Amino acid sequence: MMNLKTATRVYGLFFLIFTLISWVILSSSVLRAQPDKNIEETVNQITAKELKKHVVFLTSPELAGREAGTAGGKKAAEYVAEEFKNIGLKTLGPDSSYFQEFSTRAMSNRGPLLEMSNVLGYIEGSDPILKKESLVIAAHFDHLGLGGPMSGSPGQLHPGADDNASGTAGLIELARAFTSLTEKPKRSILFIAFDGEEIRMAGSNHYVKNPLWPLDNTVSIINMDQIGRSTENGCFAFGAQSSPGSKEILTELNQNTSKINLAVVDMPGMGSDHSPFYENKIPYLHFMSGMNPDRHTPGDTIDKINADGMEKICRLIFRYALKIASTDQRPVYKEMAPGAMGQNQMDGSPDRMSMKRKPQLGIVPDFQGSEKGCKILEVKDDFPAALAGLQAGDIIIKIDKQAITRPQDLSALLETKKPEDEISVIVLRNAEEKIFKLILK
Ligand SMILES: [Zn+2]
Repeated sequence: MMNLKTATRVYGLFFLIFTLISWVILSSSVLRAQPDKNIEETVNQITAKELKKHVVFLTSPELAGREAGTAGGKKAAEYVAEEFKNIGLKTLGPDSSYFQEFSTRAMSNRGPLLEMSNVLGYIEGSDPILKKESLVIAAHFDHLGLGGPMSGSPGQLHPGADDNASGTAGLIELARAFTSLTEKPKRSILFIAFDGEEIRMAGSNHYVKNPLWPLDNTVSIINMDQIGRSTENGCFAFGAQSSPGSKEILTELNQNTSKINLAVVDMPGMGSDHSPFYENKIPYLHFMSGMNPDRHTPGDTIDKINADGMEKICRLIFRYALKIASTDQRPVYKEMAPGAMGQNQMDGSPDRMSMKRKPQLGIVPDFQGSEKGCKILEVKDDFPAALAGLQAGDIIIKIDKQAITRPQDLSALLETKKPEDEISVIVLRNAEEKIFKLILK
């Protein structure tokens, strides 16, 4: 028989284990049952109404399409800076300003010198060590102004509601939300509104060459470019492969909270202001609600903006950014698989040629298409696809002997080609196969 002393000890041990187990169960259920009240209140401050207000101003005729280097572009920059000031962001620019001024020529080495200005401010992290690191949240505020020779509709107002008044609105409201958190994330968060994205990503390229926060301490960038046209509750997050784990974090957050129709894509999507950061080994996610045929046309208007969709996307981005800025473990950079940057060229727009020179078809692919293949939303004048006779609506299913089942396949394939290569493209047009020969540009 057990003596009393042993029995007490055994009982004591059981009691201890029981207490520990109950504590673990209790505390985890408490955590689950009660999401942080301040965080939830803050998330709910990001509203469709506020977001739309910014899009209304940015797309107004007064700003004339926010072309970089024009008075309208400057007004947009001043608007963002004024918002940052009211929100109470800290400054990084010279003389405690929110501006980083620079100038670029419109055409690589020719054309007039354009005066531009990135707008940036930050909130300081709460951890004495980690606050030296920053997470960048970004969007470009410039657009195409009155079109110009490349637009297809020169002289007409290009309001750029989706591209990228939507992202700029999101940036302002995210900055406001982070500022009103009572407990700040451990890392600092740097909010940057880039100028000149439509001119070879002039603003972000200038910034990475002249960073106001050391790039070594810039842990990741979240870029919002075109988040205003969500359909069926959908959104893309491109570039997940550049930071292992980001896909899982974002997917889980979405499942537990926003529940939007989210596609977290390993591949990079289109080039935008995140691209110069990625070239400097900084991982990114690019949020985009999808491609649409009004992109870079006068038809990118405010009436087509889905502000409720923007609200959902921005709330999810808030939660994701909070997580990234609060976690001890810094996001890890990973080089993406070959073919990764290819889609930058797939859109074929001449304003995106600052990236490495890869062959172009000159099409805008439909990332949201459900068809097998790569559906063409738009063909660009004077580019190989248009010259060979390809049309919007065609679905590319094969190039040479290689099957194309989704837009990413096309991107990867173009990576293996060079300008002047001849390829044969097989498309489905009205359910009929057609073959086109074309020379890549
Ligand atoms: Zn854009």
